[in-house]
Amino acid sequence: MSIKTEKSRQLFQRAVQVIPGGVNSPVRAFASVGREPVFIKSARDQYLYDEDNNPYIDYIGSWGPMILGHNEERVTEAVKKQMEHGFSYGAATRLEVQMAELMVELVPSLEMVRMVNSGTEAVMSAIRVARGFTGKNKIIKFEGCYHGHGDALLVKAGSGAMTTGVPDSSGVPFGCVADTLTAKYNDLSSAEACFENHKGEIACVLVEPVAANMGVVLPKEGFLQGLRKLCDKNNALLIFDEVITGFRLQIDGASGYFGVKPDLSTYGKIIGGGMPVGAYGGRKDVMSLVAPVGNVYQAGTLSGNPVAMRAGITQLEILKKEPQIYEKINALGQSFRQGVQKILEKYSLSCQVTGIGSLSCIFFTKKEVTDYESAKTANTNEFAAYFSHMLAKGNYFAPSQFEAIFLSAAHTMENIQKTLGDMQEHFENCM
Ligand SMILES: *Cc1c(COP(=O)(O)O)cnc(C)c1O
Repeated sequence: MSIKTEKSRQLFQRAVQVIPGGVNSPVRAFASVGREPVFIKSARDQYLYDEDNNPYIDYIGSWGPMILGHNEERVTEAVKKQMEHGFSYGAATRLEVQMAELMVELVPSLEMVRMVNSGTEAVMSAIRVARGFTGKNKIIKFEGCYHGHGDALLVKAGSGAMTTGVPDSSGVPFGCVADTLTAKYNDLSSAEACFENHKGEIACVLVEPVAANMGVVLPKEGFLQGLRKLCDKNNALLIFDEVITGFRLQIDGASGYFGVKPDLSTYGKIIGGGMPVGAYGGRKDVMSLVAPVGNVYQAGTLSGNPVAMRAGITQLEILKKEPQIYEKINALGQSFRQGVQKILEKYSLSCQVTGIGSLSCIFFTKKEVTDYESAKTANTNEFAAYFSHMLAKGNYFAPSQFEAIFLSAAHTMENIQKTLGDMQEHFENCM
Protein backbone atom coordinates (compact mmCIF):
# COMPACT_ATOMS: atom_id res chain seq x y z
CA MET A 1 0.00 0.00 0.00
CA SER A 2 2.77 2.45 0.81
CA ILE A 3 4.28 4.32 -2.11
CA LYS A 4 7.98 4.65 -2.82
CA THR A 5 9.26 8.10 -1.86
CA GLU A 6 12.99 7.42 -1.73
CA LYS A 7 14.04 10.58 -3.59
CA SER A 8 11.94 12.77 -1.32
CA ARG A 9 13.56 11.10 1.65
CA GLN A 10 17.05 11.83 0.31
CA LEU A 11 16.18 15.44 -0.47
CA PHE A 12 14.72 15.92 2.98
CA GLN A 13 17.95 14.68 4.55
CA ARG A 14 19.84 17.35 2.60
CA ALA A 15 17.17 19.97 3.22
CA VAL A 16 17.22 19.77 7.01
CA GLN A 17 20.97 20.50 6.99
CA VAL A 18 20.56 23.86 5.27
CA ILE A 19 16.91 24.96 5.67
CA PRO A 20 15.19 25.14 9.08
CA GLY A 21 13.03 22.02 9.24
CA GLY A 22 13.83 21.39 5.58
CA VAL A 23 11.01 23.67 4.43
CA ASN A 24 10.53 27.32 3.56
CA SER A 25 7.13 27.54 5.26
CA PRO A 26 6.20 25.47 8.31
CA VAL A 27 2.87 24.35 6.86
CA ARG A 28 4.80 22.33 4.28
CA ALA A 29 6.43 20.13 6.88
CA PHE A 30 4.65 16.86 7.58
CA ALA A 31 5.75 16.97 11.21
CA SER A 32 2.25 17.32 12.64
CA VAL A 33 1.27 14.06 10.92
CA GLY A 34 4.51 12.37 11.99
CA ARG A 35 6.00 12.09 8.52
CA GLU A 36 8.54 13.61 6.17
CA PRO A 37 7.33 15.82 3.33
CA VAL A 38 7.16 14.61 -0.25
CA PHE A 39 9.12 16.83 -2.62
CA ILE A 40 7.17 17.98 -5.64
CA LYS A 41 8.82 18.03 -9.04
CA SER A 42 6.01 19.20 -11.28
CA ALA A 43 2.32 19.88 -11.54
CA ARG A 44 -0.31 19.85 -14.23
CA ASP A 45 -4.04 20.52 -14.00
CA GLN A 46 -5.29 18.90 -10.76
CA TYR A 47 -2.23 16.70 -10.28
CA LEU A 48 1.11 16.96 -8.50
CA TYR A 49 4.07 14.69 -9.24
CA ASP A 50 6.75 14.04 -6.65
CA GLU A 51 10.45 13.38 -7.19
CA ASP A 52 9.76 9.65 -7.50
CA ASN A 53 7.10 10.39 -10.14
CA ASN A 54 4.18 9.42 -7.90
CA PRO A 55 1.05 11.27 -9.01
CA TYR A 56 -1.32 12.85 -6.49
CA ILE A 57 -4.68 14.54 -6.81
CA ASP A 58 -3.82 17.96 -5.41
CA TYR A 59 -6.30 19.18 -2.80
CA ILE A 60 -4.13 22.13 -1.72
CA GLY A 61 -3.60 24.05 -4.94
CA SER A 62 -0.60 25.90 -3.47
CA TRP A 63 -2.92 26.83 -0.55
CA GLY A 64 -5.41 28.50 -2.86
CA PRO A 65 -3.82 30.30 -5.81
CA MET A 66 -4.26 27.50 -8.36
CA ILE A 67 -8.03 27.90 -8.72
CA LEU A 68 -7.80 27.06 -12.43
CA GLY A 69 -5.51 24.09 -11.84
CA HIS A 70 -1.76 23.96 -12.46
CA ASN A 71 -0.15 25.20 -15.62
CA GLU A 72 -3.38 26.54 -17.09
CA GLU A 73 -2.52 27.02 -20.72
CA ARG A 74 -3.61 30.66 -21.08
CA VAL A 75 -1.89 31.75 -17.89
CA THR A 76 1.30 29.91 -18.83
CA GLU A 77 1.33 31.44 -22.32
CA ALA A 78 0.74 34.95 -20.96
CA VAL A 79 3.62 34.58 -18.51
CA LYS A 80 5.99 33.27 -21.19
CA LYS A 81 5.16 36.21 -23.44
CA GLN A 82 5.65 38.71 -20.64
CA MET A 83 9.05 37.28 -19.77
CA GLU A 84 10.36 38.23 -23.20
CA HIS A 85 9.96 41.84 -22.09
CA GLY A 86 12.03 41.54 -18.95
CA PHE A 87 11.29 40.41 -15.42
CA SER A 88 11.28 43.57 -13.38
CA TYR A 89 11.76 47.28 -13.94
CA GLY A 90 11.13 48.85 -10.55
CA ALA A 91 9.08 51.43 -12.43
CA ALA A 92 5.43 52.14 -13.17
CA THR A 93 3.81 49.85 -15.75
CA ARG A 94 0.59 49.51 -17.73
CA LEU A 95 0.05 46.10 -16.15
CA GLU A 96 -0.29 47.59 -12.66
CA VAL A 97 -2.97 49.95 -13.90
CA GLN A 98 -4.80 47.07 -15.56
CA MET A 99 -4.61 44.96 -12.41
CA ALA A 100 -5.90 47.74 -10.17
CA GLU A 101 -8.70 48.62 -12.61
CA LEU A 102 -9.72 44.98 -12.84
CA MET A 103 -9.86 44.51 -9.06
CA VAL A 104 -11.80 47.75 -8.61
CA GLU A 105 -14.23 46.66 -11.32
CA LEU A 106 -14.78 43.20 -9.84
CA VAL A 107 -15.07 44.06 -6.15
CA PRO A 108 -17.57 46.81 -5.21
CA SER A 109 -15.86 47.68 -1.91
CA LEU A 110 -12.55 48.42 -3.66
CA GLU A 111 -11.97 51.95 -4.88
CA MET A 112 -8.18 51.92 -4.77
CA VAL A 113 -5.62 49.15 -4.37
CA ARG A 114 -1.91 48.85 -3.70
CA MET A 115 0.00 45.76 -4.80
CA VAL A 116 2.48 44.04 -2.48
CA ASN A 117 4.28 40.68 -2.57
CA SER A 118 2.45 38.50 -0.06
CA GLY A 119 -0.64 38.24 2.08
CA THR A 120 1.46 38.96 5.15
CA GLU A 121 2.57 42.26 3.70
CA ALA A 122 -0.96 43.12 2.63
CA VAL A 123 -2.34 42.70 6.16
CA MET A 124 0.56 44.50 7.86
CA SER A 125 0.07 47.43 5.50
CA ALA A 126 -3.71 47.55 5.82
CA ILE A 127 -3.39 47.76 9.60
CA ARG A 128 -0.87 50.55 9.32
CA VAL A 129 -3.28 52.48 7.09
CA ALA A 130 -6.19 51.84 9.47
CA ARG A 131 -4.12 53.18 12.36
CA GLY A 132 -3.01 56.16 10.30
CA PHE A 133 -6.55 56.94 9.25
CA THR A 134 -8.20 56.63 12.65
CA GLY A 135 -5.29 57.92 14.73
CA LYS A 136 -5.90 54.97 17.07
CA ASN A 137 -3.61 52.05 17.89
CA LYS A 138 -5.52 49.00 19.04
CA ILE A 139 -6.72 46.27 16.70
CA ILE A 140 -9.15 43.43 17.26
CA LYS A 141 -8.45 40.04 15.73
CA PHE A 142 -10.18 36.72 16.30
CA GLU A 143 -8.78 33.57 17.88
CA GLY A 144 -7.82 31.04 15.23
CA CYS A 145 -7.74 33.53 12.36
CA TYR A 146 -4.41 33.70 10.55
CA HIS A 147 -3.29 36.93 8.95
CA GLY A 148 0.30 36.18 7.97
CA HIS A 149 3.34 36.35 10.20
CA GLY A 150 3.43 40.06 10.99
CA ASP A 151 4.56 40.59 14.59
CA ALA A 152 1.31 42.15 15.81
CA LEU A 153 -0.73 39.27 14.41
CA LEU A 154 0.99 36.23 15.86
CA VAL A 155 -1.55 35.94 18.62
CA LYS A 156 -3.83 32.89 18.58
CA ALA A 157 -3.01 32.62 14.92
CA GLY A 158 -4.36 29.25 13.83
CA SER A 159 -2.89 26.66 11.39
CA GLY A 160 0.88 26.35 11.65
CA ALA A 161 0.97 27.79 15.14
CA MET A 162 -1.94 25.61 16.20
CA THR A 163 -0.38 22.24 15.45
CA THR A 164 2.98 23.08 16.97
CA GLY A 165 1.16 24.14 20.11
CA VAL A 166 2.91 27.51 20.23
CA PRO A 167 0.18 30.10 19.86
CA ASP A 168 2.54 33.04 20.27
CA SER A 169 5.89 33.07 18.51
CA SER A 170 9.04 33.71 20.46
CA GLY A 171 10.98 36.64 19.06
CA VAL A 172 7.88 38.84 19.13
CA PRO A 173 8.38 41.51 21.82
CA PHE A 174 5.42 42.10 24.07
CA GLY A 175 5.27 45.66 22.78
CA CYS A 176 4.41 44.39 19.31
CA VAL A 177 1.28 42.58 20.47
CA ALA A 178 0.34 44.96 23.28
CA ASP A 179 -2.21 46.64 21.02
CA THR A 180 -3.65 43.40 19.65
CA LEU A 181 -6.92 42.39 21.28
CA THR A 182 -8.34 38.96 20.56
CA ALA A 183 -12.02 38.19 20.42
CA LYS A 184 -13.85 34.92 19.82
CA TYR A 185 -14.82 34.06 16.27
CA ASN A 186 -18.60 34.01 15.84
CA ASP A 187 -19.07 35.75 19.17
CA LEU A 188 -20.13 39.36 18.70
CA SER A 189 -20.34 40.02 22.40
CA SER A 190 -16.63 39.29 22.80
CA ALA A 191 -15.80 41.90 20.15
CA GLU A 192 -18.22 44.29 21.81
CA ALA A 193 -16.44 43.75 25.12
CA CYS A 194 -13.12 44.76 23.50
CA PHE A 195 -14.71 48.00 22.35
CA GLU A 196 -16.20 48.57 25.79
CA ASN A 197 -12.92 47.97 27.59
CA HIS A 198 -10.93 50.17 25.23
CA LYS A 199 -13.28 53.00 24.40
CA GLY A 200 -12.00 55.27 21.64
CA GLU A 201 -8.79 53.27 21.23
CA ILE A 202 -9.66 50.78 18.50
CA ALA A 203 -8.45 51.43 14.96
CA CYS A 204 -9.85 48.35 13.23
CA VAL A 205 -11.43 44.95 13.40
CA LEU A 206 -9.57 42.41 11.29
CA VAL A 207 -11.36 39.19 10.36
CA GLU A 208 -11.28 36.28 7.95
CA PRO A 209 -14.89 36.47 6.68
CA VAL A 210 -14.73 32.68 6.42
CA ALA A 211 -12.10 31.39 8.81
CA ALA A 212 -9.96 29.02 6.77
CA ASN A 213 -6.85 28.67 8.92
CA MET A 214 -8.32 26.71 11.84
CA GLY A 215 -9.90 24.27 9.45
CA VAL A 216 -12.86 25.87 7.71
CA VAL A 217 -15.25 27.68 10.06
CA LEU A 218 -18.19 29.58 8.63
CA PRO A 219 -19.39 32.88 10.04
CA LYS A 220 -22.71 32.53 11.84
CA GLU A 221 -25.64 34.43 10.45
CA GLY A 222 -25.32 38.07 11.46
CA PHE A 223 -21.70 37.84 12.69
CA LEU A 224 -20.11 39.84 9.87
CA GLN A 225 -23.04 42.26 9.75
CA GLY A 226 -22.69 42.72 13.50
CA LEU A 227 -19.00 43.55 13.14
CA ARG A 228 -19.88 46.12 10.49
CA LYS A 229 -22.30 47.80 12.92
CA LEU A 230 -19.84 47.68 15.81
CA CYS A 231 -17.17 49.34 13.68
CA ASP A 232 -19.56 52.05 12.49
CA LYS A 233 -20.70 52.76 16.03
CA ASN A 234 -17.13 53.08 17.29
CA ASN A 235 -15.49 54.84 14.33
CA ALA A 236 -13.26 51.86 13.63
CA LEU A 237 -12.48 50.37 10.25
CA LEU A 238 -13.59 46.88 9.26
CA ILE A 239 -10.90 44.91 7.44
CA PHE A 240 -11.76 41.66 5.67
CA ASP A 241 -8.78 39.42 5.16
CA GLU A 242 -9.79 37.88 1.83
CA VAL A 243 -6.44 36.28 1.11
CA ILE A 244 -8.23 32.92 0.82
CA THR A 245 -11.85 33.89 0.12
CA GLY A 246 -11.13 36.67 -2.40
CA PHE A 247 -12.05 35.65 -5.95
CA ARG A 248 -12.78 32.14 -4.60
CA LEU A 249 -16.21 32.16 -2.96
CA GLN A 250 -17.37 34.13 -5.97
CA ILE A 251 -15.85 36.81 -8.16
CA ASP A 252 -16.40 39.51 -5.52
CA GLY A 253 -15.30 37.26 -2.69
CA ALA A 254 -16.77 37.00 0.78
CA SER A 255 -17.86 40.64 0.90
CA GLY A 256 -20.07 39.97 -2.14
CA TYR A 257 -21.20 36.58 -0.88
CA PHE A 258 -22.28 37.82 2.55
CA GLY A 259 -23.30 41.29 1.41
CA VAL A 260 -21.11 43.10 3.92
CA LYS A 261 -18.92 45.97 2.79
CA PRO A 262 -15.57 46.29 4.58
CA ASP A 263 -13.58 49.53 4.61
CA LEU A 264 -10.40 47.73 3.62
CA SER A 265 -9.67 44.26 2.26
CA THR A 266 -6.51 42.24 1.89
CA TYR A 267 -5.70 39.81 -0.90
CA GLY A 268 -3.04 37.32 -1.90
CA LYS A 269 -2.97 33.78 -3.19
CA ILE A 270 -5.43 33.75 -6.15
CA ILE A 271 -4.59 37.25 -7.40
CA GLY A 272 -1.06 36.14 -8.27
CA GLY A 273 -2.09 33.04 -10.21
CA GLY A 274 0.73 31.20 -8.41
CA MET A 275 3.21 34.09 -8.43
CA PRO A 276 4.08 35.83 -5.15
CA VAL A 277 1.52 38.65 -4.97
CA GLY A 278 -0.58 40.39 -2.36
CA ALA A 279 -2.73 43.51 -2.37
CA TYR A 280 -4.72 45.70 -0.04
CA GLY A 281 -7.36 48.22 -0.90
CA GLY A 282 -10.71 49.76 -0.14
CA ARG A 283 -12.18 53.20 0.44
CA LYS A 284 -10.55 55.98 -1.53
CA ASP A 285 -10.43 58.37 1.42
CA VAL A 286 -8.59 55.76 3.46
CA MET A 287 -6.23 54.56 0.72
CA SER A 288 -5.38 58.17 -0.11
CA LEU A 289 -3.32 58.18 3.07
CA VAL A 290 -0.78 55.81 1.55
CA ALA A 291 2.58 57.28 0.44
CA PRO A 292 3.39 59.07 -1.79
CA VAL A 293 -0.01 60.83 -1.55
CA GLY A 294 -0.35 60.57 2.20
CA ASN A 295 2.00 60.02 5.09
CA VAL A 296 1.45 56.31 5.78
CA TYR A 297 4.64 54.83 4.41
CA GLN A 298 4.57 51.54 2.54
CA ALA A 299 6.84 50.45 -0.30
CA GLY A 300 8.20 47.43 -2.20
CA THR A 301 11.03 46.91 -4.68
CA LEU A 302 9.28 44.10 -6.52
CA SER A 303 5.68 45.18 -5.85
CA GLY A 304 3.54 45.03 -8.98
CA ASN A 305 6.17 42.86 -10.66
CA PRO A 306 5.23 42.62 -14.36
CA VAL A 307 5.46 38.83 -14.65
CA ALA A 308 3.37 38.38 -11.50
CA MET A 309 0.85 40.98 -12.69
CA ARG A 310 0.52 39.24 -16.03
CA ALA A 311 -0.17 35.89 -14.34
CA GLY A 312 -2.67 37.43 -11.94
CA ILE A 313 -4.50 39.51 -14.52
CA THR A 314 -4.81 36.53 -16.87
CA GLN A 315 -6.25 34.33 -14.12
CA LEU A 316 -8.68 37.01 -12.91
CA GLU A 317 -9.82 37.75 -16.50
CA ILE A 318 -10.62 34.06 -16.98
CA LEU A 319 -12.60 33.98 -13.72
CA LYS A 320 -14.45 37.11 -14.81
CA LYS A 321 -15.32 35.80 -18.27
CA GLU A 322 -16.27 32.30 -17.16
CA PRO A 323 -18.66 32.42 -14.21
CA GLN A 324 -19.37 28.74 -14.86
CA ILE A 325 -16.01 28.05 -13.17
CA TYR A 326 -17.55 29.03 -9.84
CA GLU A 327 -20.62 26.89 -10.53
CA LYS A 328 -18.33 23.98 -11.23
CA ILE A 329 -15.99 24.25 -8.23
CA ASN A 330 -18.86 24.99 -5.85
CA ALA A 331 -20.79 21.97 -7.12
CA LEU A 332 -17.70 19.79 -6.75
CA GLY A 333 -17.27 21.09 -3.21
CA GLN A 334 -20.87 20.28 -2.38
CA SER A 335 -20.59 16.76 -3.84
CA PHE A 336 -17.42 16.21 -1.84
CA ARG A 337 -19.04 17.32 1.43
CA GLN A 338 -22.18 15.28 0.77
CA GLY A 339 -20.03 12.22 0.01
CA VAL A 340 -18.03 12.69 3.20
CA GLN A 341 -21.21 13.17 5.22
CA LYS A 342 -22.56 9.86 3.92
CA ILE A 343 -19.37 8.06 4.97
CA LEU A 344 -19.44 9.70 8.40
CA GLU A 345 -23.01 8.55 8.90
CA LYS A 346 -22.42 5.06 7.56
CA TYR A 347 -19.67 4.39 10.09
CA SER A 348 -21.13 6.60 12.84
CA LEU A 349 -17.86 8.54 12.99
CA SER A 350 -17.26 11.36 15.45
CA CYS A 351 -16.29 13.81 12.72
CA GLN A 352 -17.66 16.96 11.15
CA VAL A 353 -17.48 18.03 7.56
CA THR A 354 -17.59 21.79 7.09
CA GLY A 355 -17.14 24.11 4.16
CA ILE A 356 -18.47 26.56 1.66
CA GLY A 357 -18.12 26.53 -2.12
CA SER A 358 -14.75 25.06 -3.08
CA LEU A 359 -13.40 25.12 0.51
CA SER A 360 -13.95 22.14 2.79
CA CYS A 361 -12.63 20.58 5.97
CA ILE A 362 -13.08 17.36 7.91
CA PHE A 363 -12.75 17.88 11.66
CA PHE A 364 -11.98 14.81 13.73
CA THR A 365 -14.23 15.81 16.59
CA LYS A 366 -17.83 15.15 17.52
CA LYS A 367 -18.24 18.77 18.61
CA GLU A 368 -19.80 21.22 16.21
CA VAL A 369 -16.97 23.57 15.17
CA THR A 370 -17.79 27.25 15.38
CA ASP A 371 -14.60 28.78 16.77
CA TYR A 372 -10.99 28.18 17.84
CA GLU A 373 -11.92 26.40 21.05
CA SER A 374 -14.18 23.87 19.36
CA ALA A 375 -11.71 23.44 16.45
CA LYS A 376 -9.02 22.53 18.97
CA THR A 377 -11.08 19.57 20.21
CA ALA A 378 -10.14 17.76 16.99
CA ASN A 379 -8.15 14.55 17.44
CA THR A 380 -4.95 15.15 15.49
CA ASN A 381 -3.78 11.53 15.85
CA GLU A 382 -6.87 10.30 14.07
CA PHE A 383 -6.28 12.95 11.43
CA ALA A 384 -2.67 11.80 10.99
CA ALA A 385 -3.72 8.19 10.38
CA TYR A 386 -6.32 9.32 7.86
CA PHE A 387 -3.83 11.65 6.17
CA SER A 388 -1.25 8.89 5.73
CA HIS A 389 -3.75 6.52 4.18
CA MET A 390 -5.02 9.18 1.80
CA LEU A 391 -1.49 10.19 0.76
CA ALA A 392 -0.50 6.60 0.09
CA LYS A 393 -3.53 6.33 -2.19
CA GLY A 394 -2.49 9.42 -4.13
CA ASN A 395 -4.54 12.13 -2.45
CA TYR A 396 -2.49 15.18 -1.48
CA PHE A 397 -4.22 16.95 1.40
CA ALA A 398 -2.70 19.58 3.67
CA PRO A 399 -0.62 17.80 6.33
CA SER A 400 -2.59 19.37 9.16
CA GLN A 401 -6.02 19.05 10.70
CA PHE A 402 -6.37 22.82 10.65
CA GLU A 403 -6.11 23.59 6.95
CA ALA A 404 -8.66 23.79 4.18
CA ILE A 405 -9.25 21.40 1.30
CA PHE A 406 -9.11 23.44 -1.92
CA LEU A 407 -10.76 22.48 -5.20
CA SER A 408 -9.96 23.87 -8.63
CA ALA A 409 -11.65 24.06 -12.01
CA ALA A 410 -9.40 21.21 -13.14
CA HIS A 411 -10.83 18.72 -10.63
CA THR A 412 -13.46 16.26 -11.84
CA MET A 413 -16.30 14.27 -10.31
CA GLU A 414 -14.14 11.17 -10.96
CA ASN A 415 -11.41 12.65 -8.74
CA ILE A 416 -13.95 13.24 -5.98
CA GLN A 417 -15.36 9.73 -6.32
CA LYS A 418 -11.91 8.17 -6.17
CA THR A 419 -10.98 10.20 -3.11
CA LEU A 420 -14.25 9.36 -1.34
CA GLY A 421 -13.61 5.68 -2.11
CA ASP A 422 -10.16 5.88 -0.51
CA MET A 423 -11.66 7.65 2.48
CA GLN A 424 -14.32 4.98 2.89
CA GLU A 425 -11.61 2.32 2.77
CA HIS A 426 -9.68 4.06 5.54
CA PHE A 427 -12.64 4.32 7.86
CA GLU A 428 -13.64 0.73 7.15
CA ASN A 429 -10.13 -0.40 8.13
CA CYS A 430 -10.49 1.58 11.38
CA MET A 431 -13.67 -0.25 12.39
C1 LIG B 1 -2.17 32.79 3.61
C2 LIG B 1 -2.84 33.84 4.37
C3 LIG B 1 -2.18 35.03 4.73
C4 LIG B 1 -0.71 35.24 4.49
O1 LIG B 1 -0.39 35.25 3.15
P1 LIG B 1 1.14 34.94 2.73
O2 LIG B 1 1.14 35.17 1.25
O3 LIG B 1 1.39 33.52 3.11
O4 LIG B 1 1.99 35.88 3.47
C5 LIG B 1 -2.92 36.03 5.32
N1 LIG B 1 -4.23 35.87 5.58
C6 LIG B 1 -4.89 34.75 5.28
C7 LIG B 1 -6.35 34.64 5.57
C8 LIG B 1 -4.22 33.68 4.68
O5 LIG B 1 -4.87 32.54 4.43
